[in-house]
Amino acid sequence: MLQATDLTKRYDDVQALDGFSLEAAAGEIVGLVGHNGAGKTTFVEMVSGLLKPDGGEIRIDGRTPAKARDRIGISPQHIALYRSITVREHLRFYGRLAGLRAPALRARIDDLAAELRMTGFLDRPAGLLSGGQQRRAQAATALIHSPGLLLLDEPTAGADPETRQALLEAVKRRAGEGAAVVYTTHYLHELSELQATIAVASHGRIVARGSAAELLDGLPGEVLVGAADGDLKVTTTDVTSTLLELLGTVRGPVESIELRPANLDDLYRSLAVSDVR
Ligand code: ATP
Repeated sequence: MLQATDLTKRYDDVQALDGFSLEAAAGEIVGLVGHNGAGKTTFVEMVSGLLKPDGGEIRIDGRTPAKARDRIGISPQHIALYRSITVREHLRFYGRLAGLRAPALRARIDDLAAELRMTGFLDRPAGLLSGGQQRRAQAATALIHSPGLLLLDEPTAGADPETRQALLEAVKRRAGEGAAVVYTTHYLHELSELQATIAVASHGRIVARGSAAELLDGLPGEVLVGAADGDLKVTTTDVTSTLLELLGTVRGPVESIELRPANLDDLYRSLAVSDVR
């Protein structure tokens, strides 16, 4: 569905993208993670056609972003709603732009309002909504025309658990229906919940890509042994042998054993040279 190859982009003295390549297949959720300044938003803006790359190529079902606009749904990082216009009017506007007409458009708005739990504020101006309500409304503008490619840039930033859950479920449902999803986030547990393929951006390129299990394979976890004569904590890639070794060194009674396998936070830290340039 999405193929981006060797993208480059320079802003004055900052090389924002430096050979950035990423693919997302139909039905796949790609979780795009990386430290502040890694190039994620620059990439998303390029795919949505808002920004031109200096070099490289983007194809969406074989078409350029400009020619594939009707196939893309985007929820940008910063809320981009008109303050004086209601949620329903936003959805009508974006729906019509995508060629939807009543009564199909009306039915679509009702369905989305129910799905994202927006019925209570559908006719309120966006400027009067809470942050979480605005997040849901914004996501709805990306979903109204059932796009084949969804670009969601930190869609749950600042969202409460209920909003986050509604958004994650909506994303999973769209992927289940065959949409390709690029989902940038700093909340790594969301990617486990979405069963996303994870792509790690660093210094303007993708440095690792795979399932959580693939990326965590070989990363050290922790063994913690609580004993009467003192607690022991060791970071290791071989949890079982390390535990046996530690137990051999404990003299008094063992009070607790905790095994903490590597998680996505460890992965993040292992790639953790700051990207702020
Ligand atoms: P974050 O997690 O903070 O959203 P990001 O991975 O989305 O970060 P980008 O916003 O793509 O990162 O920025 C990549 C680099 O390009 C950063 O160093 C940033 O300062 C720089 N940059 C982005 N937009 C501009 C711009 N319009 N002019 C100059 N530099 C820019």
